[in-house]
Amino acid sequence: MTLAMRLLSMAALALSALPQKLPLGEVPRGKVVLILQPHHDDHTTDYGMGGLIARMVDEGYEAYYVRASNDEKDGAHGYARNDIVNLRESVEGTRILGIRKVISLNWRNDYMNPIPLNELREQLIVLIRKYKPDVVLGHNPWEHYQKNPDHRQVARAMAEAWWMAGFANVHPEHAALGLQPHSAHYLYGKARLDWGLGHRPNVAIELNESQVRKKQKAYVAHLNVYANPATARAYRVALARENLAVPEWESLTDAEAAVLMEEWHMQWISRRRGAEAGVPYAEDYYVLGEFDHLPGLKEYLSKNVVAR
Ligand SMILES: [Zn+2]
Repeated sequence: MTLAMRLLSMAALALSALPQKLPLGEVPRGKVVLILQPHHDDHTTDYGMGGLIARMVDEGYEAYYVRASNDEKDGAHGYARNDIVNLRESVEGTRILGIRKVISLNWRNDYMNPIPLNELREQLIVLIRKYKPDVVLGHNPWEHYQKNPDHRQVARAMAEAWWMAGFANVHPEHAALGLQPHSAHYLYGKARLDWGLGHRPNVAIELNESQVRKKQKAYVAHLNVYANPATARAYRVALARENLAVPEWESLTDAEAAVLMEEWHMQWISRRRGAEAGVPYAEDYYVLGEFDHLPGLKEYLSKNVVAR
């Protein structure tokens, strides 16, 4: 298949996978929204934030933006200068949305994995207790296929902080700072859902009978871990207690019966996945291609790519 044909078929696949229509949500009544994000520019993402923040400010909210990283790797100026330039641009960009203040926690950009989660979470709890938001806004920590370590780390700390900031037994020492437990009513999580919903395959690969047979045989070649004779024995004993038996096991040893069961299972799952896809046998996958990075890119390419 040529690249052009591949792109056309991929675009068709993307169109057939359009998400279902969502109900329109209300902006809740409230006074303060606290935006907890890793980076200077996380309000700019096309899939969420800037628009909602602008609308919340229009509807009377005070907005505060937390930038957990120092953004040292974003830009071409070198670490130290990137930090300063990005902070300045963040202040300017967020002011356009009506945000009152950018609070920098200055953790090292893209190196946030080793931060103790409790420590990052406590910083966010302090901020929630200080600013007393009605709404906390940030990345959805349960987003799938998120590759940015700072997005994952801050989102997780945010969700935990949102939940725990209202508990008096969590960091009671904050009382000495004049901070009281505070529960924000809402958590809004943005997520790149067009990367895929996770745990849902987007393609079935058809298998023929010979391939399924090879898959079965290769599986039970691992006798050290699969097809345990004791399992077959336990089933036989359990069935016998009910005066039941499997006729095709009768002439088999426990080891042979265990292999037969495993082979049957591999065949069953291949047949089931096949039936879901309208073919005799299949395996399901979640496939990401080289043109899946930007939503809309495939559609653009399918309309604009020409053969040379
Ligand atoms: Zn970011």
